[in-house]
Amino acid sequence: LYGESRQNSAGLEFGCAAERNALVEGMNKVEAFVEAHPLGAGLSRGGDANPVFSPMDGSTKVGTVRFADKDTARKAIETAQKGFESWSRIPVHERAAVMDRVADLLEENSDRLMTIMSLEGGKCLTDGIAEIREAVDFCRYYAHEARTLFGEGRLMPGPTGEENRYRYRGRGVFVCISPWNFPLAIFLGQISAALLAGNAVVAKPAEQTPLIAHETAKLMYQAGVPENAFFLLPGEGDIGAALTSHPAVAGVAFTGSTETAWAINGTLAAKRGPIVPLIAETGGINAMLVDATALPEQVCDDVMMSAFRSAGQRCSALRLLYVQEDVADGLLQMLEGAAKELKLGDPRLPSTDIGPVIDEEARDGILSHVDDMKESQTLRYAGPAPSGPLRNGSWVAPHIIELDKAEALTREVFGPVLHVVRYKAKDIDAVLNQIAATGYGLTLGVHSRIDATVKKVVDRLSVGNVYVNRNTIGAVVGTQPFGGSGLSGTGPKAGGPAYLTRFALEQVVSINT
Ligand code: GLU
Repeated sequence: LYGESRQNSAGLEFGCAAERNALVEGMNKVEAFVEAHPLGAGLSRGGDANPVFSPMDGSTKVGTVRFADKDTARKAIETAQKGFESWSRIPVHERAAVMDRVADLLEENSDRLMTIMSLEGGKCLTDGIAEIREAVDFCRYYAHEARTLFGEGRLMPGPTGEENRYRYRGRGVFVCISPWNFPLAIFLGQISAALLAGNAVVAKPAEQTPLIAHETAKLMYQAGVPENAFFLLPGEGDIGAALTSHPAVAGVAFTGSTETAWAINGTLAAKRGPIVPLIAETGGINAMLVDATALPEQVCDDVMMSAFRSAGQRCSALRLLYVQEDVADGLLQMLEGAAKELKLGDPRLPSTDIGPVIDEEARDGILSHVDDMKESQTLRYAGPAPSGPLRNGSWVAPHIIELDKAEALTREVFGPVLHVVRYKAKDIDAVLNQIAATGYGLTLGVHSRIDATVKKVVDRLSVGNVYVNRNTIGAVVGTQPFGGSGLSGTGPKAGGPAYLTRFALEQVVSINT
């Protein structure tokens, strides 16, 4: 399935009681307190140690973080420029071997990484397992790709007496700015690609999840990433801006909101210096279409997973479900019943389906969207938030809102809120035009047993990842390269064959032999 020389990580079988219990026992033994601070050659430890509390209850202290300041950001870029000189000269198979070691260390330390992600980011066990697996797969997949792409290069056809060699090489210092919703996998996915392509990296993880970034960075150094080729700068938006505006930056990889991607684009465009790439992966108002031929039980499972897994905090998550009106009443009833079964709670418990959202600000934003919607649309289901010791956490229970028209949803709501709208079979073209008109193009689901309908939908929409008769989340590295178009990002797709090339310079050496 994955080719002869590379396989995705086996991960952990959550359905197997022995493996699940071993994980829980391992996690119970972990002392998870992390003191995060800037890392990399010659950097000072940063400012005051701010406490980091778990969003689960707002009071469990998971660690502390010292944020970098702008001077540290400048120093990191300048030292990384020197680091680039040596790192880029290391043969690619050595860089790849380092990244394979990072993958091994992630697997060896998975209990610890899982515990930190659960406490700091509210990740449930199933999500944490998938995330470690994805991070491991990114490292190994990109290492595998780099060995082929960054070797001797390719001889191009040409006249006799001339050798034309096409090859890739690193660009310089790459800035990687990553989100809190995949604080390990996307963080490391960007960095591993940039490093394997021969760049030095200055990374700013999301301010909500510095602890898991710090732990991962330490494993990277342990695996052999040089301290002058990789820098970690915990910080807020001002540090991101200080990094992207530095004249020496050779490229930026960013995952987060469309607004921030626009801002970074503007910063890069305003510099009177080298014109450098921005690799941005942003959000979407992801839709799923369900027609009258779809299998209702399967639709129900796939919608629960797509809309509510990770508390809806995935950019791939389903936001707007279009249901053919003939089957809408029955399906809505099933969805409400299934949503009622979802269990909110301590993300470290195997029985938990939904953990907290990332912080109070996120919770308040999502709940105020629900309040606004209640005024003019129909709230079909609102689950209860946990009571007892977790009541002060950042909780949003699953919500299902029926819209009278699709246009009532005007923005991405990054949480467990599913919007449903009915459509008539004869209006399918209008529905597709409506989805296209959002300007986003990240994920799309289609549930239909009619091949012609599936083809029509797939052909009409420029969406990066289309899922037919299944859920719309959890893209697998090397199998479902992930990323969208339009307001959803620039590409190239993470976990796909083109990803590394955007981190690299192309060079052609033509020799008169
Ligand atoms: N790749 C993830 C998925 O397929 C989503 C990444 C994101 O949320 O940024 O679910």
